Amino acid sequence: MRQPLIAGNWKMNGTKSSADALLNGVVSGSASISKSEIAVCVPFPLLYLGEQLLAGSSVRLGAQNVCTEAGGAYTGEVSAAMLVDFGCRYVICGHSERREYYGETDAIIARKLAACMDAGMTPILCVGETLEHREEGRTEAVIGSQLEGVLSEIGIDAFDRLEIAYEPVWAIGTGKTATPEQAQDVHVFIRGRIAAQSAVIAEKIRILYGGSMKVANARELLSQADIDGGLIGGASLVADDFLAICQAG
Ligand code: PGA
Repeated sequence: MRQPLIAGNWKMNGTKSSADALLNGVVSGSASISKSEIAVCVPFPLLYLGEQLLAGSSVRLGAQNVCTEAGGAYTGEVSAAMLVDFGCRYVICGHSERREYYGETDAIIARKLAACMDAGMTPILCVGETLEHREEGRTEAVIGSQLEGVLSEIGIDAFDRLEIAYEPVWAIGTGKTATPEQAQDVHVFIRGRIAAQSAVIAEKIRILYGGSMKVANARELLSQADIDGGLIGGASLVADDFLAICQAG
């Protein structure tokens, strides 16, 4: 039985004061939610505040990116060790926005996954197809190649220490959600790809759905057999909405 993980992806949003209110809201609401594990992935400057405000709660702290390198002369970068030092448990790796706007390739993402795991954190590996891919009937080919691109670098055993998020690019921030059936189909495909190399890991690994998951559709998506949680963008910025999704988990 896989415990659902509901992770908020705040993206580049938040000030000290808005984050203070949101984190406090999530912490107080989380006390009555036990069936889902809850995490919030905040921008780097808010990690310290996150560490302070989440202390003593069950809400886990996460980041949205990490440097491939361990430390040293990499201006503007943040290492996995730094994230650990600020209490991070999760790191989103390979989000489609990073793939698209910052040129992250599967090889770079594989190194980020390794950096997180070497430091003792759990990466959330994002995969997903664009609308064009889907319309051309290439959804499985694209996701298969994104998985293969990291599998060939880090090996199947590493999949025992990470989470996957299926995020159709056409559903992110657009208000268009994959139907529960569309999402479930891709989740089955992803689990099958992993099962081809390790049935044990395939059974254990959590595959989250992300892409306009909100209060109105969370329950139906999360009730699918292979959807083990959510990566929540827009709706994670409103404490009551995020908590309602956690409750649906
Ligand atoms: P959204 O974002 O929920 O705003 O669509 C999800 C994500 O990009 O992780």
